[in-house]
Amino acid sequence: MEHVPHHQNSGDHPKIAALDIPELYQCVHCGLCLNQCPTYRALRLEPESPRGRIHLVKAAADGRIELTDRFKDHLYLCLLCRACETACPSGVQYGRIAETARAVIGPPGSKVTRGVLNFAFTRLLPYPRRLKLLFGLLRLYQRTGLQRFIQPLLPIKLRQMDAMLPPIPRRFFEPKSKTVPAIGERRAKVAVLNGCVMPLLFGDVNEATVRVLQRNGCEVVFPKQQICCGALNTHNGETTAAKEMARRNIDAFLEAGVDAVIVNAAGCGAAMKDYGHLLHEDPSYVTKAIRFSSLVKDAAEFLAGIGLIGKLGSIDVTVTYQDPCHLAHGQHVRSQPRQLLQAIPGLKLVEMTGSDRCCGSAGIYNITHAEMSRQLLKEKMPNIADTRSEAVVAPNPGCMLQLQYGAQKYGPNVKVYHLMDLLDRAYEHSSSK
Ligand code: SF4
Ligand code: SF4
Repeated sequence: MEHVPHHQNSGDHPKIAALDIPELYQCVHCGLCLNQCPTYRALRLEPESPRGRIHLVKAAADGRIELTDRFKDHLYLCLLCRACETACPSGVQYGRIAETARAVIGPPGSKVTRGVLNFAFTRLLPYPRRLKLLFGLLRLYQRTGLQRFIQPLLPIKLRQMDAMLPPIPRRFFEPKSKTVPAIGERRAKVAVLNGCVMPLLFGDVNEATVRVLQRNGCEVVFPKQQICCGALNTHNGETTAAKEMARRNIDAFLEAGVDAVIVNAAGCGAAMKDYGHLLHEDPSYVTKAIRFSSLVKDAAEFLAGIGLIGKLGSIDVTVTYQDPCHLAHGQHVRSQPRQLLQAIPGLKLVEMTGSDRCCGSAGIYNITHAEMSRQLLKEKMPNIADTRSEAVVAPNPGCMLQLQYGAQKYGPNVKVYHLMDLLDRAYEHSSSK
């Protein structure tokens, strides 16, 4: 292992004593995770590897180094893709180590970036109406043609961010009623997470998810009090609002008395399955949090578990599948989405090389670390091209946005679908015949 340099203390840094992470001591430094780590593969530097980062956090926890800006940079160049967890024979939960360390060091970036992120985490994400207003204004900015005039005038970083903004749909998703009935005999009562950006950017996917669940005998409820899952907060060192959001979701969903809480965004599902850990120091919530987490199911995991019913129509398309990191590495859900895709008549699934390698989206990573994010995307797109598929399926909004951007910027010119969208179309085709 390379020597990890001690970091200089510039004086005003958080207390390292707060870094009390039992998972740290499980790492045996074997290095088997290194070649699975996107940042290590790109840079070949030990501090940009899982083992190097664990070593740094342990050194900080033991009081041997200070939590300097360089320390923070190493921790935040990590995508939190958790590919290292899949590779680790010792079962080291790297995600928990990184999240706990980040909670101590706070959000990434300059003072201004941290201010903006803090505002977004605490003043926007927990408030669906404010988010809706913001996306409404962005839609106006795009549709009035303002974007065409303003974009070239923006500083380079903002221009890049603006170019990544997908067209904001005409309509945002609002659940029509609190409960929608099962079609046919009721097999389960489920609640669906609406999410923060899903109803604003991918409302059609939420609608498709509900229809597919209904056709599979599920009564679907939308608890009114639910909000954003808080994953972006937790991943980026903001845990106060994240815990509050978790408590609110736990109360809202448990009160609904459902058999399962269905999530169609991989990052949200992984975060909600870990509420028990997030609230482990809260005696009034930890038991409820664990019970809640046991109900959380990714949509594909749930549907494959109960078995699809009803006739699926044919869709003649060749697709490849991108494993969202927080589905494959975070929730160990790999076979179920493939199983559901293969159940669609006419659909041909062609596997790509490195389907479980991060596409570079990673929440807000493609904004905070645009260069590394693009490098990973540029590696991903040729793997998609090699499959000669017409479309790529990625059941997570971040991956969908990133791959849409990749298709437009680097090619191949593939369509990007959510799995629920394809299933819904297949059901639709069958009923229209
Ligand atoms: S989470 Fe991903 S980027 Fe971070 S250390 Fe592990 S493999 Fe590397
Ligand atoms: S995290 Fe796991 S795989 Fe990586 S060095 Fe430590 S023990 Fe080995």
